[in-house]
Amino acid sequence: MLVFKKTLILTSAALLGSTACIAQNLEIAAQTSSAIADPKNWPKANSPQTITDAQTEKRIADIIARMTVEQKVGQVIQGDISTINPEDLKQYPLGSILAGGNSGPYGNERSSAGDWDRLVRAFRAASNLPQANGIAIPIMFGVDAVHGHNNIPGATLFPHNIGLGAAHDVDLIKRIGSATAVEIAASGIEWTFAPTLAVPQDYRWGRTYEGYSANPKQIAAYANAMTIGLQGPLVKGQVIATNRVAATAKHFLADGGTANGKDTGDAQMSEMELVRRHAQGYPAAINAGALTVMASFSSWNGIKNHGNRSLLTDALKGKLGFQGLVVGDWNGHGHVAGCAVTSCPAALNAGLDMYMAPDSWKGLFDNLVVQVRAGDVPMARLDDAVRRILRVKNKLGLLDGSRKPSGDYSAIGSAAHLELAREAVAKSLVLLKNEGSVLPIRPGAKVLVAGDGANNLGKQSGGWTITWQGLGLTRDDFPNGLSIWQGLESAVKEAGGSAALSADGSFSEKPDVAIVVFGENPYAEFQGDIPTLDYQPSAAVDLALLKKLKKAGIPVVSVFLSGRPMFTNPEINASDAFVAAWLPGSQGQGVADVLVAGKNGKPKRAFTGKLGFAWPADARAPITQPLFKTGYGLRYGQKIALGQLSEDPKIDIATALNATGFFVRGRARAPWSMSVNDAGGARPAEASSVASPLNHVAARSVDVKAQEDGKALRWTGHGSISISGPPADMTSYVASAYALRIEWRIESVPTGAVTLAFGGRAVDISNAVGAAPVGAFSDITVPLRCFAAAGVDMTRIGDALQINAGTGFSVTLLSATLEPIGGDRVCPSIVAQ
Ligand code: BGC
Ligand code: BGC
Repeated sequence: MLVFKKTLILTSAALLGSTACIAQNLEIAAQTSSAIADPKNWPKANSPQTITDAQTEKRIADIIARMTVEQKVGQVIQGDISTINPEDLKQYPLGSILAGGNSGPYGNERSSAGDWDRLVRAFRAASNLPQANGIAIPIMFGVDAVHGHNNIPGATLFPHNIGLGAAHDVDLIKRIGSATAVEIAASGIEWTFAPTLAVPQDYRWGRTYEGYSANPKQIAAYANAMTIGLQGPLVKGQVIATNRVAATAKHFLADGGTANGKDTGDAQMSEMELVRRHAQGYPAAINAGALTVMASFSSWNGIKNHGNRSLLTDALKGKLGFQGLVVGDWNGHGHVAGCAVTSCPAALNAGLDMYMAPDSWKGLFDNLVVQVRAGDVPMARLDDAVRRILRVKNKLGLLDGSRKPSGDYSAIGSAAHLELAREAVAKSLVLLKNEGSVLPIRPGAKVLVAGDGANNLGKQSGGWTITWQGLGLTRDDFPNGLSIWQGLESAVKEAGGSAALSADGSFSEKPDVAIVVFGENPYAEFQGDIPTLDYQPSAAVDLALLKKLKKAGIPVVSVFLSGRPMFTNPEINASDAFVAAWLPGSQGQGVADVLVAGKNGKPKRAFTGKLGFAWPADARAPITQPLFKTGYGLRYGQKIALGQLSEDPKIDIATALNATGFFVRGRARAPWSMSVNDAGGARPAEASSVASPLNHVAARSVDVKAQEDGKALRWTGHGSISISGPPADMTSYVASAYALRIEWRIESVPTGAVTLAFGGRAVDISNAVGAAPVGAFSDITVPLRCFAAAGVDMTRIGDALQINAGTGFSVTLLSATLEPIGGDRVCPSIVAQ
């Protein structure tokens, strides 16, 4: 059996011309037996299925009977707006269109609701034009509205799921679901890729904040409530209301259970654990009528879920009784053994109903038509996928054309929704420490508000906000938002006190109390994975700020923004009160509602939040001995003295830290940051597309081996890119023969020189650049001792590297790292200073 499988896989991989995945396939084939789900171990959804009915099934069967292979294949493919136009639907009648995290209508990430509506209508109109055989099936349009309708400036942004979990309020979740649906529907869209039902185990995972809680029971209750909120209650034989949208239970399955918290990784566990811990949200969502489920990028015991028939078909559709459609994740089918993004009958055969093929839809369509004709996919399976898609379209009122978007854009960011978000923020706050009862802030107090998160709507909103990673945002991106500072300022003043904002904590008049808002900078999937749970392991600038204020004799309240619990004992020690505020979203005034007492001595709302995840006592993950267990959360009046907490991270942070990875997986890695510079100055290169002030150097995120794992750097004038951070001691790397290594694809060579600097001293690499292949990956390696010999002070490396060039230079940067090379390579000559 094994031998047969191997041969089969080898053949198909060879056909695709892919040698790279052969080794992987062999390994996977060897592990197959442990990744087969047995339906008898799975729960059954217990409520009557309401997605379809006999009459609908008959109608759909009639449509399918008239469809061509091309039309059927089209239905099972979804393309992204960044690569498809409405006109394309004529030749490629796709069933669905999505807008990914970095895709906005007409190339504008900050598009208005009106623009979204216009775009969706254009696609829908194109899909409604009957083809030769009279068939016209409207597309369905999906977006990631994962904490409100987060792609639209001015939409209500709710706290990310981790905060909602801390609120422990099922009814609140239902109301948020319904408000979110109203905003999505108002912009003409009918499908959101939410809720995430992950049960995160290892908080190094960058998507921890997309999970509600570590408690499967709570996930189940929330899954049900959010699905009902988004879709409304499903009624047999009736389409859902026009102000409701299709929900997506994602990512099936155990996305939160991968080894070491690695995004898209492998969940290594028994079927029992898979079911008991990670699957509980799904029957709950299915009971509530969830119309769609998204397959996870990840694998279970070595088999990618997108290709696991026992999971997608036997368990999900069989035992759990799911009648809706299973959509793939962003080219996730391409990760299946033997597959490529443009060719993967295996995923459809395993039970995937709709491929998410953002940029690969064309090739996938062409190949799938051939594969279906060749019998690689049984017609019955293709028909079943189409049937499921049409069921969902029918339920959305698309098939009979009854769904008519209101076009009432005023529903987006309406006063009632903003008020609901404010309530959610207040309920999500968890009080971890309140020594000396510094909170609530008493009426009349003179308050200093500090920290780089205080007046920073982007930071308080986190990833999946306007842009995919939530970076590069300004105040203007939040027309209906209020920062935490703005909320504090008005509450303090209302109570007769005074408030001053100073990010760095400086003051002229000594305040009665300081509130410091700080924490993680925004990130989303994949880029948000971290090596340890230590907060600010290499440059504890916030700790320094807290200590500075304490030293001045000022009581300190910390408001910590984060997408996960983190090792913050030093920061907790340096604070009189410490509040976990998660990623609250656009309505920062919810924080003041709880922290600041009004004239009557009482805050608008009490602390009611409780941890949905354990809080770590040290930097190790996963957590074994928490500092605070789940369910912890102080109330006003509760006097618990924490005393001095151990500040020992219990691991060798320096080793665990990726201090040597300046640029990996698409971005400069903390504590390093990247900028593009020219004679006009420097500009941070964190957003996915930026240019230096005079436009001499442009940096744009691109896909190389994974999503946005590279930066396309283009010089149209003189300038540089640099990566810098707080000074780090690198002497030990010189001693152990490390080198600076740049991995890139040179796209075009400039006429002038190219230099590479480390610690401020440059080497001329023009010859190496000239000799490297154009259009293929290559690397450049310069031993650190060369820089040391040139006089670089290795004890304080702040400017890690700089690449300087002029017009015509163009590269795709994949990594910039320090790596052990040993030996004694010759040093290139150092450029005179
Ligand atoms: C895209 C985003 C998308 C994400 C999905 C990125 O490459 O730019 O739009 O949501 O991949 O993983
Ligand atoms: C993410 C999904 C998301 C999709 C579309 C993927 O990379 O994993 O959660 O729905 O992109 O943007």
